[in-house]
Amino acid sequence: MPDKTTFRLKFWGTRGSIPCPGPDTIKYGGNTTCFEVTCGSRRIIIDAGTGIRALGQKIMLEEGNLLDADIFLTHTHMDHIQGLPFFAPLYNPKNNIRLHAGHLKPPCDLQSLIDTFLMKAPIFPVPSSLIKQACTFDDYKCGQIFELEEGVVVRTGKLNHPNGACGYRIEFAGKAIAICTDTEHFEDDIDQNVVSLSQDADVMVYDSAYTQENYPKFKGWGHSTWQEAVKVAETANVKQTFLFHHDPSHDDTKMDAIAKEVAKIRSGVRPAVEGEEIEI
Ligand SMILES: [Zn+2]
Ligand SMILES: [Zn+2]
Repeated sequence: MPDKTTFRLKFWGTRGSIPCPGPDTIKYGGNTTCFEVTCGSRRIIIDAGTGIRALGQKIMLEEGNLLDADIFLTHTHMDHIQGLPFFAPLYNPKNNIRLHAGHLKPPCDLQSLIDTFLMKAPIFPVPSSLIKQACTFDDYKCGQIFELEEGVVVRTGKLNHPNGACGYRIEFAGKAIAICTDTEHFEDDIDQNVVSLSQDADVMVYDSAYTQENYPKFKGWGHSTWQEAVKVAETANVKQTFLFHHDPSHDDTKMDAIAKEVAKIRSGVRPAVEGEEIEI
């Protein structure tokens, strides 16, 4: 059991776009995005990519196996929600899971997206009615601040991504974690939303799908580079930075090369590794 000042981040999925398990991605991981943030006895989950399945398995084995948690989605592109129907705690009616998304615009909302697309035949065989007793759906407006119990504050901010996305800043026990994925930088100016989410953060996770060299080929696709992660870390005075949303084509050898290169430029910046836990 975590004690009441435990503040911890765990990467359950670090990959962007599509899962890519296999011998070439074993070190940095093949599952798509999912974070578990522990704040004392509270649990916050960010994103429901394929990494959330293993988190669900862990929760099912915990004492009492009941879950009272908030799941905040950065957005609803497939790589961030495709694990949701495989998150076992959703099917236990005794659980209390609050699902939040801040990027959708009417007439689209989170519940109808799950009902009519993600968990709907013939896309998926299990209907969403089976998760309704365990969970609630909240469409908030990006920019909203959540004050959860035990002094946990979750700030939200708009990211630059096709169809919208929200970044998060989780504050607890005088410390802060910023999660900024998926987002594309501006070439002429630093993104002030990203800077304000990350200002003086103990940990920042930043979309580094590309490198400065290959970025021009993917301009407008909604992702950034590790070089921009360094720029944000410097501007916002971030202590520890994790490169994230690894491109599926970046195998362990490529990721090791990026890790080596970035370490020469700024200390405390490195690629996120699936399964790694960071004590804040
Ligand atoms: Zn993504
Ligand atoms: Zn996306």
